[in-house]
Amino acid sequence: MDLSYTPEEQAFREEVQHFLDEKLPKEMSDAVREGRSLGKEGHERWHAILNEQGWLAPNWPREFGGCEWNAVQRHIFEEECCRAHAPRIVPFGLTMLAPVLQKFGSKEQQDYYLPKILSGEHWWCQGYSEPGAGSDLASLKTKAVRDGDHYIVNGQKTWTTLGQHANWIFCLVRTDPDAKQQEGISFLLIDMDTPGIEVRPIILLDGTHEVNEVWFTDVKVPVENLVGEENKGWTYAKYLLTHERTNIAGVGFSQAGLDAVKRLARVQMHKGRPLIENPYFAARMAQAEIDLMAMSTTNLRIISAAASGQAPGVESSMLKVKGTEIRQEINDMARRAAGVYAMPFASEAVEGGNEPPVGPEGTAAVAAQYFNNRKLSIFGGSNEIQKNIIAKVKMGGRA
Ligand SMILES: Cc1cc2nc3c(=O)[nH]c(=O)nc-3n(C[C@H](O)[C@H](O)[C@H](O)COP(=O)(O)OP(=O)(O)OC[C@H]3O[C@@H](n4cnc5c(N)ncnc54)[C@H](O)[C@@H]3O)c2cc1C
Repeated sequence: MDLSYTPEEQAFREEVQHFLDEKLPKEMSDAVREGRSLGKEGHERWHAILNEQGWLAPNWPREFGGCEWNAVQRHIFEEECCRAHAPRIVPFGLTMLAPVLQKFGSKEQQDYYLPKILSGEHWWCQGYSEPGAGSDLASLKTKAVRDGDHYIVNGQKTWTTLGQHANWIFCLVRTDPDAKQQEGISFLLIDMDTPGIEVRPIILLDGTHEVNEVWFTDVKVPVENLVGEENKGWTYAKYLLTHERTNIAGVGFSQAGLDAVKRLARVQMHKGRPLIENPYFAARMAQAEIDLMAMSTTNLRIISAAASGQAPGVESSMLKVKGTEIRQEINDMARRAAGVYAMPFASEAVEGGNEPPVGPEGTAAVAAQYFNNRKLSIFGGSNEIQKNIIAKVKMGGRA
């Protein structure tokens, strides 16, 4: 297999590098490199910069305003963005909901919602999980009852990431309580400004406010906000999840994370010598690098298949498991390399405190990132659940 890049691909890489040199604000890349939070405004600013360039939606078809880049272009773009410490684009509208609307939404929904995702007017969040309905998502209880040309929604969602910033939420709701679990679910688009919605913060292990509970009390949702057919929401929900899982793999993030660990291991000392010369630590880094190279190739294979029209299937579960294991291993190596500087529980370092952080560059946020990324093997469907899916599909239903 020839893994070298063509002259056209090389030229594309240079174009991306040039764009990032010119348009990525330095204070933004500094914040990302140091693991500091960007806040809502920071995310909106980077979203707008990419949109102006026309590069916000690499995976969307051109007819909807996307780049329609091929797998290699998308890989190059992600690699360069991570190398330059560009912020991650908030995925809920762009890479989760949009593919669902493009495949299952009505023409009116596509015309109304997709441009607002690109412009940033709509900030979406994901209303799937509920207390008691995480891994067993199909047991969700939030219900929507048809009343004329509206649904009346009652219930509670939880773990809603960045719901405090969102003005729209896509929700799985139960529309037929008598049907078999998966068959009575619908996919609704809900304006967060509708009366009866309350967002309550949940503070995470790393001290940050990233997730929320969202409560619905007699919330009136127009029937035209239903995606596809009533009671067929499970099909759309699963389609969305395959996109979510493929994106969680985060090859570029791991590459940037591994580079940061190497930088740190060169300056941190162990028994009088740089940590990078410690055989045990060097072997750990080498293993992570080998795993990452193998996953990167698998990732290319999968996005290439997706580009030729095949929806990512069980492969997205494989990527999710391996990708998150690698990311957590890199976080753990960073924690180990930071040594005593990883000991303070410095959530202020993530939010940007008054004092300069102690320790070599990149150590201040190491502990917070380590704690925060425990989530990677939980959300998007826990890794145990992904292993069940892989076993079931690959072993012919014997799981
Ligand atoms: C930081 C964070 C952000 C999130 N963001 C969102 C969001 O924006 N929107 C949203 O809808 N959801 C979100 N989630 C929810 C996430 O999808 C769920 O947490 C996840 O699906 C697991 O569900 P649960 O927490 O209810 O755990 P449970 O389902 O109760 O699982 C508990 C443990 O049991 C294991 N387990 C459960 N069933 C099985 C089984 N059959 N076989 C083997 N092991 C099993 C699980 O792997 C896990 O280790 C987020 C979660 C986190 C932590």
